[in-house]
Amino acid sequence: MEYVQLGKTGLPISRLSFGSWITFGNQIQNDISERLMDIAYEAGVNFFDNAEVYAAGESERVMGKILKSKNWSRDSYIVSSKVFFGAGAKVPTQRGLNRKHIFEACNQALERLQLDYIDIYFCHRPDKSTPIEETVWSMHQLVMAGKILYWGTSEWSAQEIMEAHMFAKQNHLIGPVVEQPQYNMFVRDKVEVEFSQIYKTVGLGTTIWSPLASGFLTGKYNFNQTDNSRLEREELDWLSQRLRTEENFNRVNELNKLAQDLGTSLPKMAIAWCLKNPDVSTVILGASKEQQLIENLTAHEVVHLLTTEVMETIEAILKNTPIRPQF
Ligand code: NDP
Repeated sequence: MEYVQLGKTGLPISRLSFGSWITFGNQIQNDISERLMDIAYEAGVNFFDNAEVYAAGESERVMGKILKSKNWSRDSYIVSSKVFFGAGAKVPTQRGLNRKHIFEACNQALERLQLDYIDIYFCHRPDKSTPIEETVWSMHQLVMAGKILYWGTSEWSAQEIMEAHMFAKQNHLIGPVVEQPQYNMFVRDKVEVEFSQIYKTVGLGTTIWSPLASGFLTGKYNFNQTDNSRLEREELDWLSQRLRTEENFNRVNELNKLAQDLGTSLPKMAIAWCLKNPDVSTVILGASKEQQLIENLTAHEVVHLLTTEVMETIEAILKNTPIRPQF
């Protein structure tokens, strides 16, 4: 496993990491979750991603129980959680990035995860109804209180990240060091264009999500091998409809042929394509089955197959090269 420093921090993070969205406490049994964490940890994964909203807190409970049962030294892994959506929020005070919810959500996440501190705490979305100053102060205070070590954002705009960063800098507070955006062959603009300046200025690290577009980039939806798969889930019908377009099916067909010509599989090629981007600190993998994770964890072995020529072929298949500003 390769490790890089997360943005400008000194924190070494594995380039492949593992997350629990949809799966833990929901789609899969707890013994499978445990097996998946074992496989990831044994392969050198040191970052496990979670959030208060995943399975309304249950995902953190499952991960916490697994971590507690392991003999893994606490200083050998990084755990995240995220605040914003609440853990099954029913009333307005149970969500958002105001001081009250941030404080309470952090304490509740620590309890569910059975941890003394969270390594990286993400603001899961921007909160238009809370002044950014209040959020920055609240996250800073959690660091000072020893409840979190680093904080970051998820799906914030470059402008919002810069605002938080500038406010922190002016007031000698600890600012955000990492962003968690979606990044895969279909969704590219934020990572490849919007953030391009702040990698340099702020030294932003990225922990990217849905590298396989929720499994669509494995090709299995093209070949009808999808029993119990994510995009068959009723609550994700909106995502399924967004992904199952004629254009995407055609792209996946061609990408699959290319992967076969290269002697690899489409999931491995799609993850390797994310790893190839040096602005990606870590690719967060998701899996509902052992075999999936075992396969995905070997993706780094095929990065070298993505030569300039192959990358050009991929561009020609995707036809979504982001337009970069001219300086
Ligand atoms: P992916 O896009 O890689 O999708 C993972 C899913 O695809 C698996 O659960 C599995 O679903 C299927 N799959 C994975 N590998 C294979 C394979 N080799 N063959 C066949 N099917 C496969 O990642 P996620 O969408 O899960 O995102 C990863 C993590 O990122 C999450 O767990 C979470 O921690 C984080 N995240 C963060 C978000 C944010 O807003 N900050 C939003 C979303 C995710 P199945 O078997 O059901 O088909």
